[in-house]
Amino acid sequence: MASPRAECGWRARWLSFGLMSIAALVLAAGRGERLGDALPKAFVPLAGRPLLLRSLDALAAVPEIDRLVLVVAPGDRKRLGDLEAELAALPGLAPPVDGGSERQHSVRAGMAALPDDVELVVVHDAARCLVRPEDVSRVIAEARRHGAAILAAPVRDTIKRVRDGQVIETPDRASCWAAQTPQVFRTEVLREALDRADEEGFVGTDDAQIVERLGVAVRVVPGPASNRKLTFREDFDAAERWLASGSGGGTGS
Ligand code: C5P
Repeated sequence: MASPRAECGWRARWLSFGLMSIAALVLAAGRGERLGDALPKAFVPLAGRPLLLRSLDALAAVPEIDRLVLVVAPGDRKRLGDLEAELAALPGLAPPVDGGSERQHSVRAGMAALPDDVELVVVHDAARCLVRPEDVSRVIAEARRHGAAILAAPVRDTIKRVRDGQVIETPDRASCWAAQTPQVFRTEVLREALDRADEEGFVGTDDAQIVERLGVAVRVVPGPASNRKLTFREDFDAAERWLASGSGGGTGS
């Protein structure tokens, strides 16, 4: 039987777990030019279900997350209305937010819609709709401990830095990881990073980059190669094959 002191510690942890407010921003305001589809990428179906719904399904299955905020392009509101029934079935989904011209602006718009009590924010690309809820939980646990954590996968290829068609550097492959989402931060850390980036006119390609610029250490949680960002038609084809093989399990991803 646990000692009264151990029991007390366990209780405190359980209570703080229950009380910590965690929100997820699902970024779906990009156009997806590289896909070349008539629909904006987040609305393109993968095996019959649009990417944004698949991403929301996966995050809704993460027990630690209690609020979901979907960020869409203002011009896609009507399209979103066509998914009303599916969206209504998602627990914890807040009203949608209008995104901006750059991904970082969409993150800022999503952050502005969060209530003050949100302590951790999970930023996720709708285009990474094969994410597994258990991987999201692992990143949340790491960010809870350290303040900032991302999912990432070790690169398979040797990476070259190239300028004007010429290799200028070959970084050690063992130290190269491909950043994925979700990326999870203490809310005040991400807010400060966005403010600093705005002040300096810096636009990053992910959120960790602007947090790193603050000098905050970002932890890396190994993620599966299947959590790829669907960018080109062949990514959709590969993802459909992956789902058909049964690898996606029953999580909606
Ligand atoms: O353009 P990229 O592939 O990096 O986009 C990653 C994710 O960010 C996508 O899910 C896309 O919908 C979203 N995004 C956004 N607002 C933008 C650009 C991209 O929400 N202005």
